[in-house]
Amino acid sequence: MAGMLYLVPTPIGNLGDISQRCRETLEQADFIAAEDTRVTLKLLNHLGIKKSLVSYYEHNKAFKGNVILDRILAGETCALVSDAGSPAISDPGEDLVRQCAEAGITVCAIPGPCAVITALSISGQSTGRFCFEGFLSTAKKSRREHLAALEKETRTMVFYEAPHKLLSTLEDMAQVFGADRPISLCRELTKLHEEVVRTTLGEAVEKYTQQSPKGEFVLVVAGAVLEQPEAATETDAAACVAELMAQGLSRKDAVKQAAKTLNLPKNVVYDAALAADREEE
Ligand code: SAM
Repeated sequence: MAGMLYLVPTPIGNLGDISQRCRETLEQADFIAAEDTRVTLKLLNHLGIKKSLVSYYEHNKAFKGNVILDRILAGETCALVSDAGSPAISDPGEDLVRQCAEAGITVCAIPGPCAVITALSISGQSTGRFCFEGFLSTAKKSRREHLAALEKETRTMVFYEAPHKLLSTLEDMAQVFGADRPISLCRELTKLHEEVVRTTLGEAVEKYTQQSPKGEFVLVVAGAVLEQPEAATETDAAACVAELMAQGLSRKDAVKQAAKTLNLPKNVVYDAALAADREEE
C-alpha cells in the first residue's frame, strides 16, 4: 500500500509556533524532505527529533521528486518542510504535490504558519478579498509588466519581497499605483523585531531612501478604488431624446434608445423628455 505525503508548515520566526500536530507528523514520518537540510536539522534538534532527511529544492526537484515519489509508492510516509512557513507557497513543493496527486497518493496539508496570511491579518488593510502575487521578478522589465497588469486590481494585493529589492519595488509600485496608495510593510513577523508600518507608497519610498531595509518583508498594498462613471441626469436624458428625434426617430424609439445608452429606466427618460417639452412651450 502507498504511503502519504504530509505538508508540514514550520515557524516563520517564532519557534513556539510549531503545532503539536506538526511535531507528531515529523516524529512519525518515515523521512522528511527538506528545502535546506541544515535549516531543518536545527529545527529538529530544537524539537528533539531524529529523522532521516532528504533534500528537495528548486534545482534538484525534478530528479528528487521522482525519488521521493518512488519511496512513497513503496509505502513510506514523507513529511515535506521548507525553510520556514507553508511548503508549496512560493517554496518548493507545488510540483511534488502535483506528482503525488497524479499518482493517486494521498496528500495531507497541515495548517500552520504562513507569511501571506500572518501579514494580511495584521496589515489593517481590507481582507475580504485579496490576491497573493508572490515575488516580483528581479528583472526590471518583467517586474514593471507584472505591476502594470495590476493597475486596476481592486482587491488587496500581497507580495513577498527581499530587502535588497525593496526600494526599487516600492518606487515602481508608487509609479503604477500612485504615491497616495496605502501600503502595510510587514517586517520580521513573529520575530523579536517584528514591525508593521502602515503608510503610503510615497512615504515608504521616502523612508527606505533614508534607511536601508533589513529583514524579511511582506508588502500588503490596498486595491484600486475605481472611479464610478457619473450617473446620467434627467437633463442628459431629455437632450439625448431631443437629439435622436431630430435625427428622425419617433419619440417612442428615441426614449427606448436613450434609456439604453444612458442606462436609465424608460419611464424616467420619457418623463424627462416630456418635462423638457413643457418647459419649451
Ligand atoms: N512558504 C513561506 C510562507 O508562505 O510562509 C514563504 C517562503 S518565501 C521563500 C520567503 C518570503 O516570505 C520572504 O522573502 C518574505 O517575503 C516572506 N517571509 C517569510 N517569513 C517572514 C517573516 N517572518 N516576516 C516577514 N516576511 C516573511
